[in-house]
Amino acid sequence: MTRGNSTARAAGIVTVVVAALLGSAYALGRSLVPDQVPGLSTGATTGADGPHYADQPSGGEPSGTPSASTGPAETGQDGSAPKTGTDNLFGAHATSGSPRLALTFDDGPDPRYTPQVLALLREYDVHATFCVVGENAQNHPDLIQAIVNEGHTLCNHSWHHDVGLGARSADAIRSDLLRTNAAIRAAVPNAPIVWYRQPGGAWTYPVVSVARQLGMTPLHWSVDPSDWELPGAGKITATVLTQAEPGSVVLLHDAGGNRQGTVDALRRILPDLTARFELEALPTDPT
Ligand SMILES: [Zn+2]
Repeated sequence: MTRGNSTARAAGIVTVVVAALLGSAYALGRSLVPDQVPGLSTGATTGADGPHYADQPSGGEPSGTPSASTGPAETGQDGSAPKTGTDNLFGAHATSGSPRLALTFDDGPDPRYTPQVLALLREYDVHATFCVVGENAQNHPDLIQAIVNEGHTLCNHSWHHDVGLGARSADAIRSDLLRTNAAIRAAVPNAPIVWYRQPGGAWTYPVVSVARQLGMTPLHWSVDPSDWELPGAGKITATVLTQAEPGSVVLLHDAGGNRQGTVDALRRILPDLTARFELEALPTDPT
């Protein structure tokens, strides 16, 4: 072996070692710092017509305008996660896991819209899953009871719709999720709460990890008509009916702003979906 080769070989080894060290540091950094740091403010406000959340329009308030700079991804709402790829889901379920289609309703309960949604689901004999916000569960225990009594299943959607929850400490995440479950259980002591949906879809490893430790499976979605952007019942209907397929988890909102468009869309969506698919509430024994 010539000296030149030896030098080159030594340099190569150094390069490999440095690369490995950098790789470790990168991996360590990723484990410490969540991919998505959408800002720690929840941006939540409480108006005369109920709470609005940062990821939803709220009467023109600046804080209610979705912002790519503060959101976890492109749009910063429950529909914020990129539609392609699953790297940002940290293992959260995006489909029902069966051929059946699952409707999910987020951010409630809300006394204006949740009863309308429940009535329509009852009319079509459909069961769904409600991802409820802890403070709303505390304020409307009667609606939580109605949801469960009518055969729907529950999903924890954080205490205050904290889009930045995943960037907080594991302890802070745990106390938020437990507080939410306690508010739900105050209304329905025996109802299983086995799903957790991160507001804004802003999943991080810590929030997925804590949810699982607490016995909840992280739940994302596969069909998102962005109903929170108030596109109108026609567009909401068209998006859902076009994109629905076996196993779809459809994201809709029964709270967080004016949801009449969603309710009106549901009236058109249900006859079509029930003719094409079997619909289900997400099971309370997910694997
Ligand atoms: Zn939400």
